[in-house]
Amino acid sequence: MKITEHIQQANKTLFSFEILPPLKGQSLQDMLAGIEPLMEFNPPFVDVTYHREEYIYKQHPGGLVQKVSTKKRPGTIGICAALINKFHVEPVPHLLCGGFSEEETENALIDLEFIGVQNVLALRGDADKSEGKFIAEKDGHCYAWQLVKQITDMNKGIYLHDETETGFHTNFCVGVAGYPEKHFEAPSLTYDLKYLQAKIDAGASYVVTQMFFDNQKYFDYVKRVREAGIDIPIIPGLKPITTLSQIVNLPRTFFLDLPDALMVELDKCKSNADVKEVGITWAIQQSKELVKAAVPSLHYYTMSKAEATYKIAKEVF
Ligand code: FAD
Repeated sequence: MKITEHIQQANKTLFSFEILPPLKGQSLQDMLAGIEPLMEFNPPFVDVTYHREEYIYKQHPGGLVQKVSTKKRPGTIGICAALINKFHVEPVPHLLCGGFSEEETENALIDLEFIGVQNVLALRGDADKSEGKFIAEKDGHCYAWQLVKQITDMNKGIYLHDETETGFHTNFCVGVAGYPEKHFEAPSLTYDLKYLQAKIDAGASYVVTQMFFDNQKYFDYVKRVREAGIDIPIIPGLKPITTLSQIVNLPRTFFLDLPDALMVELDKCKSNADVKEVGITWAIQQSKELVKAAVPSLHYYTMSKAEATYKIAKEVF
């Protein structure tokens, strides 16, 4: 079932979350067992992130250094199949422009269709760490709206290199990313919303936001999006802060602010355990306020760890 249908049919705020594929060499079963407690809250869908390749340098005897491409977290499509089989939830794989040619995207979408996936989140992806700015693959997409268009073309039976529509078409519901605090490359929020509109014009049906810690930022963003004439669901993304290092790393990585009131509490923390308590309490407050505002779903960034999200969901759902 499509995410938009889940939202339409529910007369309350849904619970959903995002997981990361395990690092290469780690067990899928351990990861699935780790998130199993969250199934108590009946998530209609679970997002599975995608991680593009990274480059590492291998030193060979004799001093030769070789640049090698590797994927630290492969397995997004396999995990989607496992989620369907084990938990009967809708998996939402993330699909990236980065690292994919259009041909590879088409093949991945065919695989996803064959295993019964009906929803995808279409993203550009970040720059390769060694490149500094985003560079599309040869024959790949530069922006998420182009990826959305490729997916919605397939929904019309239009495949690459085919002039005419085929008899068979896919039926993906496509979500896209939104940024209450603006995407870091966009010169202004107005600019960013122009490109959000391009993703919707290309066929996107719902938005999932970047994490935020100040609900007012989400409310202001939704207001601006609605004023721009966009009326599709905007699902808020939430992350409980759980470690001391995240206090520095989350703002730096995701270009977001931590509100002063939260920082006052985090400043008192001496250990990860202290931070986790503050982070969970804050996320519970955020969640309760967002439920009151009748948001479509509360979407938690779990990093495949259930404990903090479980404690929040127990208070909220
Ligand atoms: P786009 O919508 O293409 O926008 C990228 C930038 O380009 C923006 O600044 C936009 O304003 C600008 N822009 C868009 N179109 C144009 C145009 N035509 N001309 C000029 N400028 C334009 N990353 C991963 O690697 N894996 C994941 O699984 C993943 N999951 C995510 C899930 C969510 C909910 C979110 C919010 C982000 C996720 N990301 C993930 C990160 C995401 O890939 C990055 O934020 C990336 O930098 C932008 O992706 P996008 O889809 O928003 O890009």
